[in-house]
Amino acid sequence: MAHCILRIALDTPLNSVFDYGWPHEEGATPQVGQLALVSFGRREVVGLIVAIAQETDVPPEKLKNAIAVRDQLTPLSPQWLALAGFAADYYQRPLGEVALPGLPKNLRVPKTVALDRALKKLGKLPPPGDPSPLGMPPLNPSQQEAANAIGGAAGFTPLLLYGVTGSGKTEVYLQACAQVLQRDPQAQILILVPEINLTPQLEGNIRARFPGLMLATLHSSLSEGERMLHWLAAHQGQARIVLGTRLAILASLPHLQLIVIDEEHDPSYKQQEGLRYSARDLAVWRAHQLGIPIVLGSATPSLESWHHAGTGRYRKLELRERAVRDAVLPTVRLLDMERDKPKEGLTSGLLAALRARLERGEQSLLFLNRRGYAPVITCESCGWISNCTRCTSFMVLHKPEHRLRCHHCSLELRIPRHCPTCGNVDLQPLGRGTQRFEENLRAMFPEARILRIDADSTRKKGSAQEAFDTVHRGEVDILIGTQMVAKGHDFKKLTLVGILNPDTALFSQDYRASERLFAQLMQVAGRAGRAGLASEVLIQTRYAQHPLYSAVVRHDYDRFAGNLLEERHQAALPPYMYQALLRAEAPELATAIAFLEEARDILPTDAITLNDPIPMTMTRVHNVDRAQLLVESPSRPALQAFLKEWLHLLRALKTRVRWSLEVDPLDI
Ligand code: ADP
Ligand code: ZN
Ligand code: ZN
Repeated sequence: MAHCILRIALDTPLNSVFDYGWPHEEGATPQVGQLALVSFGRREVVGLIVAIAQETDVPPEKLKNAIAVRDQLTPLSPQWLALAGFAADYYQRPLGEVALPGLPKNLRVPKTVALDRALKKLGKLPPPGDPSPLGMPPLNPSQQEAANAIGGAAGFTPLLLYGVTGSGKTEVYLQACAQVLQRDPQAQILILVPEINLTPQLEGNIRARFPGLMLATLHSSLSEGERMLHWLAAHQGQARIVLGTRLAILASLPHLQLIVIDEEHDPSYKQQEGLRYSARDLAVWRAHQLGIPIVLGSATPSLESWHHAGTGRYRKLELRERAVRDAVLPTVRLLDMERDKPKEGLTSGLLAALRARLERGEQSLLFLNRRGYAPVITCESCGWISNCTRCTSFMVLHKPEHRLRCHHCSLELRIPRHCPTCGNVDLQPLGRGTQRFEENLRAMFPEARILRIDADSTRKKGSAQEAFDTVHRGEVDILIGTQMVAKGHDFKKLTLVGILNPDTALFSQDYRASERLFAQLMQVAGRAGRAGLASEVLIQTRYAQHPLYSAVVRHDYDRFAGNLLEERHQAALPPYMYQALLRAEAPELATAIAFLEEARDILPTDAITLNDPIPMTMTRVHNVDRAQLLVESPSRPALQAFLKEWLHLLRALKTRVRWSLEVDPLDI
């Protein structure tokens, strides 16, 4: 006879909450929010106690007892459980698949040594400490107003900090944090950044500002031991500031008083596999649940947030000028590639500007969102091109690595010596990636110190940080890189940004492409002239008349965003429409489409629009064909209600097709 029943969430698909008995009369009764070790199938796994009951529908002969409860750990709070519950509900996933992966791995293994280790270590660490900030620079009036609005906000207060690049948003966050930390001796603050490469810079700033406080970081490059320690420091309330990437939104923070989302528009806040959540959206929910302020900062807010600011749901705080004295926004000019024909992809206008920087000893950044040497190689005599045999894509030439690589399925081949079709030995690279520009620039400017930063050049752990440090120390004259270098970095000696080839995004099928391109251009342009040196941004384009570029030249986000919102409104697209995407994968496209057609018809409804299934733009990846079905409604609750019922039916379907659902998809 069980003493009580533990209802335990496990990391399994389908139904993920299971009942176990707890027969022990003696000892402390288990509590909701504690972790428990149970046997599941043939394995022992760790689950999360989500309820304690007296009765169960499981027949007594089938009811297993839980093996142990991790009572050395403070239970996760009801608020945390509610957050995981909301995420599971909203993104239509089982609770266990959301709650458990949100915890450090070392907590989820049958052995407790890692936990007992970590707990002992934290016991020795100093108590929360002194929140006094050091070296606070005086704020300019708009910064001060913003910091006070954030620091003084009471109750759920979403604030959109709309500040041009270099306007000192970081300083506003830090001073708002100081206010919150000094007011409440226990307060914890969560700060999210979109990209792991941005954590060291901000971490340094925070540590220098609050030397007496414990800071925890949570991102994907921590070792499991470190992650456990940092997670626990947050969970036990010792870490007063937690800095992390999107996964940190699920951190346990018992005294959370403020959330900061830096570069809130950044698509990296969206998890693109498994539980496809938006950390920004969950953060807003979390702030609402706890009744605390949340700041969303950006120079180019997402249209969703801009829309909320427009309707008054979010309070807008503006920083219109750069913070450093004499620093002004860079002059943006378009270099018309139709008139100034490029040589090796570089117009004479850009070359002259590079030369001038080299003469003055200033830094330049060339931005190109395409890594590798050339996106494809071809045979000019028979027309063969380097297609990936497994995907609807090309094999990219990586010259320094002597490889052809598919960026979608990771297939790697040696560079063929001759054409596989006709034997011609003269295979030509077509188009240009960062490696090719690097090679050309080295030939053109042999005296310059040139550094390439992209996913290929920074594979080794720590190498990205090393590369950024080299730039900050001024040991680089020309930096060439992908979006990795575009975001957030405060490069003080940079006075020229060259944007090599942004045109392709202008004609994308993706309705979000122009919003993204604009944000990306403003971001990368914002790396220039931050320390007060006069600076320029040069955009090479064949479409110099395009309105998107005119808006960039005028630094006019307001009008651009206003126009885009109007277009979205007319076309009934987000943020005026709520969407979900059902994706299906099968060896044959027809199978995937047939499944989606069945799905479309399984639950007739008038309240929701179910579009026809279509192949995804990149149809085949790794020998699997992919198709999608878009589901839409102007009402979020109506869509949510439909999805719940619909998924129930879909899960009951017998199909070999692999499918998944994404709520609020970014790429459709
Ligand atoms: P943003 O995040 O808005 O792009 P940052 O926070 O990186 O801008 O600030 C840009 C630069 O301005 C940094 O070098 C920062 O130290 C400096 N700065 C910010 N606020 C002030 C201030 N009040 N007085 C002087 N310099 C400031
Ligand atoms: Zn491939
Ligand atoms: Zn050939």
